Amino acid sequence: MLKNKSNKRQICVLGSTGSIGVNTLDVIRLHRDKFNVVSLSANASVDKIFAQCLEFQPKTVVMVSVSHAEQLASRLAGENLEFIEVKSGVDALVELARSNQTDTVMAAIVGAAGLMPTLAAVQAGKRVLLANKEALVTSGAIFIEAVKQSGAELLPIDSEHNAIFQSLPWQEQVRVGHCQLAQNGISKILLTGSGGPFRTRLVSELEHVTPNEACAHPNWEMGRKISVDSATMMNKGLEFIEAKWLFNVEAADIQVVLHPQSTIHSMVQYKDGSVIAQMGNPDMRTPIAHALAYPDRIESGVSPLDFFNTPSFEFQAVDYEKYPNLKLAIEACKSGQGACTALNAANEVAVAAFLDEQIKFTDIYKINETSVRKFVSEQVGNINEVISLDTRAREFALSIVENFSQSKLKEQK
Ligand code: NDP
Repeated sequence: MLKNKSNKRQICVLGSTGSIGVNTLDVIRLHRDKFNVVSLSANASVDKIFAQCLEFQPKTVVMVSVSHAEQLASRLAGENLEFIEVKSGVDALVELARSNQTDTVMAAIVGAAGLMPTLAAVQAGKRVLLANKEALVTSGAIFIEAVKQSGAELLPIDSEHNAIFQSLPWQEQVRVGHCQLAQNGISKILLTGSGGPFRTRLVSELEHVTPNEACAHPNWEMGRKISVDSATMMNKGLEFIEAKWLFNVEAADIQVVLHPQSTIHSMVQYKDGSVIAQMGNPDMRTPIAHALAYPDRIESGVSPLDFFNTPSFEFQAVDYEKYPNLKLAIEACKSGQGACTALNAANEVAVAAFLDEQIKFTDIYKINETSVRKFVSEQVGNINEVISLDTRAREFALSIVENFSQSKLKEQK
């Protein structure tokens, strides 16, 4: 296992100022004897990353824009921390992800912006803690082929995939990306989802829900993009596609089960009738601690489940009329990479427009569906084709946003 002379894991946190990034640093703070933070990255949150630099004193930090990098560098200079190198831009991010100063990369950038740095970490053969599901959804087979070629160790952070991973026999855990689940008697992956904040709302009420209502998840505290994805259940759709690639299964081998309490994080069904589940309080520090220390176990700061004060477990089938985005993602998963790449790109554009109050909640599905239909037959064989399709699908989705945004304005007048 790659560790330096101090026997500490050398960690890069991509997206350190986000919800997953902050939780990762919370776990690391409890184990400074085991983990050394070598590098951090953010988009524009200068205040947050400055505080992280004061505390963790990394060697290198990357900000997306030159101006944010300059602001950070000048504040670090004011604290005599000039030894922290501050860089900017996508190339610097890719360089950071593959740097030989680190052995473990937490991939926690949100959206397809995380694709190139996450892929760079994979190509460099690192232990990659994968939170950035959009990278895998966008590039599927290309990403998994890179894992095989480099021998990178892929550990899922999404609580569902981490739960599935924990419920697998070790022979499968060591070959994530190229599992052979049937060989080990596994018949199905049961992907649980809470149903988000609108599970008990009527379909007719969804048109006018606000961004703040959509971001008020009943069980999890997350970034705003994934919170909206949870409200539409597109998040479960992206997870469905992620599960296909991580565990090398077909769409028919994955079943989504609504479990409003989010205590069971997902399950694996074996052919003898056994179902193995992983459960715990809904707190991302558990899967993060699991993946950071794997195969050891460390404290995460999460309190143990109190079985005597836990609501009864409920399970329900998905109502696809309420969650058409989930159905669309499952169909995209069956259709192929063109549909998945286009769906992810369109969804990022649509969610950003909804958060910006340009479109209605229900417009997200319309934009996603129209975009998938347009690009479904595109062939995506290499990373340049992924990026090209991602760009074209975004432009197309933006043009639809403009139409919806005009009609929303007219309605308001
Ligand atoms: P957040 O929005 O909270 O954080 C995103 C991070 O990425 C921030 O550090 C942000 O920087 C950075 N970032 C944003 N845009 C860019 C860009 N264009 N280039 C480089 N960096 C960028 O997201 P989450 O932490 O919620 O989610 C991160 C990933 O983890 C997502 O893929 C999500 O699906 C996945 N995930 C999240 C879970 C959660 O509980 N939050 C659970 C399971 C998976 P800045 O702060 O400066 O904007």
